[in-house]
Order: sequence, then C-alpha cells, then structure tokens
Amino acid sequence: MHLVEHPIALDALVALRDKTTRPSHFRRLAHRLSLVLALEATRDLKTEAARVDTPLERADGRVLAGDVVVVPVLRAGLGMVEAVLEVLPHARVGHIGLQRDEHTAIASQYYAKLPPDLSQSVALIVDPMLATGGSAVAALRMLDQAGATDVRLVCIVAAPEGVAAVEAARPDVRIFTPVIDRGLNASKFILPGLGDFGDRLYATL
Ligand code: URA
Repeated sequence: MHLVEHPIALDALVALRDKTTRPSHFRRLAHRLSLVLALEATRDLKTEAARVDTPLERADGRVLAGDVVVVPVLRAGLGMVEAVLEVLPHARVGHIGLQRDEHTAIASQYYAKLPPDLSQSVALIVDPMLATGGSAVAALRMLDQAGATDVRLVCIVAAPEGVAAVEAARPDVRIFTPVIDRGLNASKFILPGLGDFGDRLYATL
C-alpha cells in the first residue's frame, strides 16, 4: 500500500469531493491527481544509459527502458488514462469493461481488450474508486490470465474493504492512492468518498 500524500494530490482530492464541483473541473482535477499518482506508481521503472548531443557537447543520461501497459477499468478509469499517457506516451493501453450491479454491487465483465505479451510489462490498472474491491480483483484476475506479472493498482479514493479484498486476492499488488476513506454505505459507495466517479466525470447523473 502506497499512500500518496503529495500536497498537490491532497488539494485536488478536496475539490473532487466537493459536490459543487462541475464535471469540466472534475475532469481537470482527476487528470491532475492522476498525474501525481502516475509519477509515484512509476518511480521504480527501469532505465538505461543514453547519450545525446546538446547544442554544446555530448551529454550522458538515462531513458526509460521496458514496456508499460495502462489499463483503465471502464468507464471511470478513462478519467485517469490520459494523465498516465502524458508521462508515458509510449505506454500501451488495454481496456477492461466491468459493470457494477446497482443492487448487489457485483462486477461483471462486458468488455476486454488487452495488448499481447504482458509478461515483461509493468501494468498499471487505473480504477478511481476502490470500493468493495470487486472490480479491482476481477481486473487483476484478467491481467493474471493475460500473463502480466508486475501489476499495480492506481486509485483516487480507496475504502478499507477494497484494500483488504485486493490484499487477500493478490498480496503482491501495490496499491497507489492518496487516501483510504472510512468505509462503505449500504449501497457500497465510499464514505465520505466523492459520489459516483463516472457520473461526475461525464455528467450522467
Ligand atoms: N464507484 C464510485 O464511483 N463511487 C463509489 O463511492 C464507489 C464505487
């Protein structure tokens, strides 16, 4: 568990929680917070030596080495994917569609398209609300089946129940989030949370 308590992330989180924040601003805040999370979740990416010619002389440096795959869980995860691609423009993108039943909160898959050959990749699942953990665990299983070995979960708000579910299913998976909230309500929404992330992102309330 990596609590990303970066001041910029915490500041954006307050505005995301605010019920008066409009979707256009909500999208910008989600992007900003996701940028910070993406930087933290990729802090240990492999690099290799590189040499370039500046206008004045030769310089040695390091460049990213190795493959990264970002996997948004549809639809709310789409609000985070562009931020990851901003810092990792060469990342490959997979999509997982999981629908949460409004009554049971159980996630069922309706779409999956993952890039091939994931065994050497760092896979970042982006799923903003880690509530019951149902969709995160389902996404982790799908990446397992696709051969991914280094999988990290990037969330904007986590509930203790979701963290526990992921840790029970896959203790090796690192979770990056700025906050662990109090818990879930009877409808499995996170408290205090920020409401339905997808609805707030896309104005579908
Ligand atoms: N999904 C959301 O969008 N919000 C929650 O609080 C829980 C799951």
